Amino acid sequence: MANSSRTNRKFTNRRNRLVENLRTKGIHDEAVLSAINTVPRHVFIDTALEHRAYEDSALPIGKGQTISQPYTVAAQTQLLKVNPGDKILEIGTGSGYQAAILCEMGADVYSVERHEELYLKAREILQSLGYRIRIKWGDGTLGWSAYAPYDGIVVTAGAPVIPQELIRQLNIEGRLVVPVGDNEKQLMTRITRISEDAYEEEHFNHFKFVPLIGEKGWKYEE
Ligand code: SAH
Repeated sequence: MANSSRTNRKFTNRRNRLVENLRTKGIHDEAVLSAINTVPRHVFIDTALEHRAYEDSALPIGKGQTISQPYTVAAQTQLLKVNPGDKILEIGTGSGYQAAILCEMGADVYSVERHEELYLKAREILQSLGYRIRIKWGDGTLGWSAYAPYDGIVVTAGAPVIPQELIRQLNIEGRLVVPVGDNEKQLMTRITRISEDAYEEEHFNHFKFVPLIGEKGWKYEE
């Protein structure tokens, strides 16, 4: 049963406008747009920021982290080329919003978050909305080998280099979407596994993410 905040007309209208805005910015995957039109983004952020939930901007979620800008979520999800039934791994659960979008698109979703507090909160929100997702508290730069291989892996934090372990956890034809760069900006990169040992690498726009911190990521602590 949908809860009252989910059916709230005010938020529904704002979500519609956000989707039209994303369309004008070049998002054309209808499954992505439909998921954004459905997932209640305001539920994933602090109530004090609820009124800004459907602006196209990143917002703080605690621990110095952010819920990604809707355009960024849409662009990364579009590059992932998600098909219903695909097994998708997300690195950096954060608020849980991106995981919900993937789930809404019919994917079988796995997600890893390094901050215990964020992991617990996201798990609770996703459960309360009825999204069935497997989440783990840990270092996502190593992937999640127990459930590999994946049809898609999306990294939602900025990596210094492409984590090789993630490439190894891709299925043939699997896609890895990862922003790679320094602290200032990262180049959106897509690796597609062509065969057992052949890969294609493509580059897209620059973005600005919080850092991917871990064994195969940045080494410092905040
Ligand atoms: N996808 C999230 C975006 C959150 S920001 C959302 O929709 O809200 C990126 C997240 O990546 C942060 O929560 C940060 O703690 C997490 N992160 C950074 N390095 C990580 C790592 N090595 N493993 C797992 N999570 C990591």
